Amino acid sequence: MPSDITTKILHSDRLAGVEHGAVLKPLHIATAYGYATAAELTEVFQGTRSGHVYGRQGNPTSQALETKITLMEDAVGTVSFATGMAAICSAMMALLRKGDHVIASRFLFGNTASWMNTLQQMGCEVTLVDATDAANVEAAITPATRIVFVETIANPRTQIADLEGIGRVCKDKGLVFIVDSTMTTPALFRPKAVGASLVVHSLSKSICGHGNALGGSISDTGVFVWTSYPHILPAYKKGEPKTWGLLQIRKKGLRDIGATLSAEHAHRIAAGAETLGLRIERACSNARALAAFLEKQPLVSKVHYPGLASHAQHERAKALFKDFGALLSFETVDGVDPFDVLDGLKLVIKSSHLGDNRTSALPVARTIFWEMGAEQRKSMEIADSLIRVSVGIEAEADLLEDFGNALATLGGKRS
Ligand SMILES: *Cc1c(COP(=O)(O)O)cnc(C)c1O
Repeated sequence: MPSDITTKILHSDRLAGVEHGAVLKPLHIATAYGYATAAELTEVFQGTRSGHVYGRQGNPTSQALETKITLMEDAVGTVSFATGMAAICSAMMALLRKGDHVIASRFLFGNTASWMNTLQQMGCEVTLVDATDAANVEAAITPATRIVFVETIANPRTQIADLEGIGRVCKDKGLVFIVDSTMTTPALFRPKAVGASLVVHSLSKSICGHGNALGGSISDTGVFVWTSYPHILPAYKKGEPKTWGLLQIRKKGLRDIGATLSAEHAHRIAAGAETLGLRIERACSNARALAAFLEKQPLVSKVHYPGLASHAQHERAKALFKDFGALLSFETVDGVDPFDVLDGLKLVIKSSHLGDNRTSALPVARTIFWEMGAEQRKSMEIADSLIRVSVGIEAEADLLEDFGNALATLGGKRS
């Protein structure tokens, strides 16, 4: 089997066998699946025969996408969900109980940070730490700790977790290490390499890329030993132990909570994923150029991008990732209103989406990080003037021109 992700997934449907010699799996929209005999139906229900029973637990189209993500992550299996948030919440609901302790990075996607508050209200304890240093994770461990949750490149400030160090700590202490790799995608990084147990993707972002579908996934890398996890229910201790965790996530998470990925969206995400490798190359190259350009602008006080030598974790990014990602953020100098910069952009969309083929930007403190309040923004290192840019695949010159024009108009307006 080739190791390149593009080669792998381009041929994944065909190699699994598709009727008529079609090179793509068809779109299966049925809710129910029928069997010739009651015995066969029973076997599928009891898990001794593979097959589908009811659309809430998945369908052949989402299954084909799960196979592709499993191939890209070099994992043992994947469960797909309606959104990235559904994947995160459902997996944690399936694995945690009241009284359990979770350690999470302080630098988190806003809705994930909000979910950590909900977990606390439901009786779990959550400690938020500066995950750029594994020592902070290690110091927070208690006998009740079950899960450590981090993002690879944090959105929007691009802090990079000490992935290797945390992987070692989790291995030593027998903790489930969940890595949200949405910002890196399998094109740049494979969390299994640093000992991640579960990998999260928001499929709505770069993996889909075309901004026309929502989805999320959880993959099990096969690294974690589920025989040592205290909350696997007896019904899911079937077959190889490395499949137990994901089986419980599929049943207690996907089946019971029901945030199922629709076949139509799975189909569109799979089509987008075919060009992930190509799109990421272009987007990363654009992001590198834009970061270097912005760093030279007098109205810009700071640029946060892992590809810049000035980034605190530049060396870590270089060592771990194939490229530096398509997300950057920057702050404007005192007296320059970030709204004016954004309103001067003609091509770049003022939108909260990420990983779209089209470049978008937004004022972070007053939009996605507004609800949490000033104090938490400060602890997450979100400056009031921070502008986040999700860099797309437009021509580099067109992007630089758009930002150049927006900043040039402001040169004279500075108060
Ligand atoms: C967008 C995002 C999510 C949530 O994904 P949705 O598909 O929008 O629910 C989770 N983590 C990160 C890092 C994200 O960027």
